[in-house]
Amino acid sequence: MNASLYDVIVLGSGPAGWTAGIYAIRAGRKTLLITGIRWGGQLMLTTLVENYPGFVEGIQGPDLMMNMRKQTERLGVEVVNTDFSEADFSSRPFKITADNKIYEAKSVIIATGADDIWLNVPGEMQLRGKGVSTCATCDAFFFRNKDVIVVGGGDSAMEEALFLSNVCKSVTIIHRRDKFRASKIMQQRVFDNPKIKIIWNKVVTKYIGPDKVTAVVLKDTKTGKEEEYKIDGVFVAIGHKPNTDKFRGIELDPMGYIVRKEEKDKNGLLKYFSATSVAGVFVSGDVHDYRYKQAITAAAFGCMAALDADRWLGENS
Ligand code: NAP
Repeated sequence: MNASLYDVIVLGSGPAGWTAGIYAIRAGRKTLLITGIRWGGQLMLTTLVENYPGFVEGIQGPDLMMNMRKQTERLGVEVVNTDFSEADFSSRPFKITADNKIYEAKSVIIATGADDIWLNVPGEMQLRGKGVSTCATCDAFFFRNKDVIVVGGGDSAMEEALFLSNVCKSVTIIHRRDKFRASKIMQQRVFDNPKIKIIWNKVVTKYIGPDKVTAVVLKDTKTGKEEEYKIDGVFVAIGHKPNTDKFRGIELDPMGYIVRKEEKDKNGLLKYFSATSVAGVFVSGDVHDYRYKQAITAAAFGCMAALDADRWLGENS
C-alpha cells in the first residue's frame, strides 16, 4: 500500500461532487475526486433535464454529468474511477482506501448522494424516464393535463402529489395501508385538494409498457385481487437511502443522513455551512439533504463545501 496526500478528497461524482472539485482546484488546492463505479449519480438515470439553468432546450441528464466531469478534469482535478472501500476519519490526515491503495487527505468533502428507493416490480427498470419517475419537481412538466399516480404514504408522497396537482389533470395516491404516515399538516393539504384522489390498501405489482407506461397492475393488500389501472405517469415516492454505509466515526441522523453541523464565528456570523461532526470533513448534496434533492441545489452545496474546506485548510494547515 502506498499513500498520496491531497488537500481535498471529494467522494462522489454527482453535481455536488463535481462542483466541489471545480471550486477546490480553482482555490489552488491539490484535489482528488473518487467517482464510485457507477459514476454520475441520479442524473445518469434521467432523461431530459429542463430545470438546470444555462441550457435553453434542456439537456439529457448523462450529458450534463459528462460536461461537469470534463470541466472538472480540464481544470486539473485528479479523478479515480472506482469505489472507495473505507473512509477513516479517526485521525488526520484522513485515510480513504480504494482498490487497495490509501489516499490521504487534509480535508474531505462527502458527496456520495442518496439512492431513490424503487418498487422493484416488473417493468420498472425499462420504463424509468418513460412515464415512471421519482421526482415531481423534475418531471411534472411532462405530465401537463395528464392523469398520474403517486405511490407512498409519507411526506414525500404528499409533497409530490401536491406539486403534481398544480400541473396534472388528476393525481391519485396509491398507498399500501389505510393510513398515511405523513405529518398531519401535509395529509390535511392532500385531503383538502380536490384534484387528489386516494386509493387505500393497494400496491403496484407491475408496470405496463412497453415504450411508455400506459397502466399499472394494482393488487389489493386485503383481498389479493389484482386489476389493471390506466395511467399516463407514475411517481414513486417511497423514500431515499443515503449512501453512508462506508463511513465510520461521523454522526448520522436516524435516517442515515450525515448530520450537518453549521458553525458560527465569535460574532455569531456563519463560518462553515457544511461542517460535520468531524473537523475537516464537509458534506454536500443529497447525502445530507433530504429536502430539496435537486441537481442545482446539490451543485450549490458542493460549492459551499469546497469554499468551507478551503477556508478550513487556510486556518488549519
Ligand atoms: P417515509 O417517511 O419512509 O415514507 C415512505 C412511504 O412509502 C411510507 O408510507 C411507506 O408505507 C411507503 N412504502 C415504503 N416501501 C413501500 C413499498 N415497497 N411499496 C409501497 N409503499 C411503500 O419516506 P419519505 O416520505 O421520503 O420521508 C422521509 C423523511 O423525510 C421523513 O422523515 C419525512 O418526514 C421527511 N420529509 C419531510 C418533508 C417535509 O416536511 N416537507 C418532505 C419530504 C420528506 P408505510 O407507511 O406502510 O410504511
